[in-house]
Amino acid sequence: MKIHKAYKFRLYPTKTQETLIHKTFGCTRFVYNYCLDLKRNNKHLTKFDLMKELPRLKKEYPFLREVDSCSLQNAITDLMAGFGLFEKGIGSYPRFKKKGEKESFRTSFVTSSYKGIVYENIKVDLTKRVIELPKLKEIKIRGYRNLDKLSGRILNATIREVGTKFYVSVCVEEEIEIQESSGSKAVGIDIGVKNLVVTSNHEYYGNPKYLDKYEKKIQRLQQELSRKIKGSKNYIKCKKKIEEVYRKLKNARKKLVEKIVSNITKSHDIIIAENLKVKKMLENKNNHKHLRKKIINATFSEIIRILRYKCQWLNKTFIQVSPYYASSQICSRCGNKESVMKDIRVREYKCSKCGLEIERDYNASINILNEGLKCYNN
Ligand SMILES: [Zn+2]
Repeated sequence: MKIHKAYKFRLYPTKTQETLIHKTFGCTRFVYNYCLDLKRNNKHLTKFDLMKELPRLKKEYPFLREVDSCSLQNAITDLMAGFGLFEKGIGSYPRFKKKGEKESFRTSFVTSSYKGIVYENIKVDLTKRVIELPKLKEIKIRGYRNLDKLSGRILNATIREVGTKFYVSVCVEEEIEIQESSGSKAVGIDIGVKNLVVTSNHEYYGNPKYLDKYEKKIQRLQQELSRKIKGSKNYIKCKKKIEEVYRKLKNARKKLVEKIVSNITKSHDIIIAENLKVKKMLENKNNHKHLRKKIINATFSEIIRILRYKCQWLNKTFIQVSPYYASSQICSRCGNKESVMKDIRVREYKCSKCGLEIERDYNASINILNEGLKCYNN
């Protein structure tokens, strides 16, 4: 089966290259914001419609021609991906990008041939320790000293600036064969409301009480805010308080998720999770509480985001099973599929065919593992 892997290198651009990288950040941000504005005024615009704007934009703003054209197209692709998540109820409505805010751009691998010679726009030479990128030419890199060659086919490269340092993440697609032994190092995880994460090794990671505490505090402050006169001194003060609690909640959640993820990735090579699905979001019985839903959804996305990131970083495989896979309806022992979805409050899965009685989320995590390995082996 094919997997995607990322190699992350530190980049050492020359002054001229650094200027061009900054220009590319600016141009991709410009295209992103320009298209976001168009999309806000006409939500029916498709990716194709926006791509068609590019040649006209380049005529009107010639500075766009100075940078890699793939990165401009990818800015549109990313914007549309953001809208896709928003429409599925997973992400928030795309926002305008600001200068200096997580600056990055992505270029895609393209080959062309001229007079029988094949040209590639992204090349990594680990003996010379350089990467060749469109428009930027050769840039010095550091990392993966023990490798003499990247395995797999290059798909794209993302260039980032973090503080004053530059990095490139080269994404490759690799054909791999699963070995017997690596199967035992695979784990399936179920993400849920009752237990944040349940693994197919029968490990439970609960939803700690302190997250609830923050949630209650935000709720109380929001009620307070609604009683204040909009724009008044007290209103602004209360709003600032809410933001502060949100910040604390976010930090606490990030710490918690990072701990869970590092525990899981430490002992496994293949991590299989669900694709965040609409079902999960509706499972919450306090459905009428918008805030709760928002916090839970954000926690779920955070788990997936950090899992994906950590797996890329550690060169591990991260698989997500189809959002249509009914992990909680299937019996992990005999494969029987119960047609009726049990109420989320029923914590036990009982198979009407083989009689298996098993904790609901644990059963789901085993199914996720098996389904993921099936995809992995094909
Ligand atoms: Zn069964």
